[in-house]
Amino acid sequence: MITVGTVPERLARNRYAPDGQSHIQVDQDRARATGAAALLVRVCPAHVYSEAPDGTLAVQHAACLECGACLAVAPPGVLRWRYPRGGYGIAYRLG
Ligand code: SF4
Repeated sequence: MITVGTVPERLARNRYAPDGQSHIQVDQDRARATGAAALLVRVCPAHVYSEAPDGTLAVQHAACLECGACLAVAPPGVLRWRYPRGGYGIAYRLG
């Protein structure tokens, strides 16, 4: 029988090359106006987003899985998202 492990175990096999330059930018005014923070905190599987008590949306971009879920649900204008620069970001290990 082949065992694949739990999701956290499988994700732990990946490699990250963190970029000092974030590939995710937030328009904080637009995020507050649309209430996007709660949605982004809930949808991101890597817990990249967190909401500060003052409503500011914090981003831990180095943990990003590059799945695109946040872009799919964010109200227009809240996020500017691009892939990390070449050589940075996540490298998936599927075995
Ligand atoms: S692309 Fe995926 S992992 Fe990265 S911040 Fe968006 S939802 Fe989170």
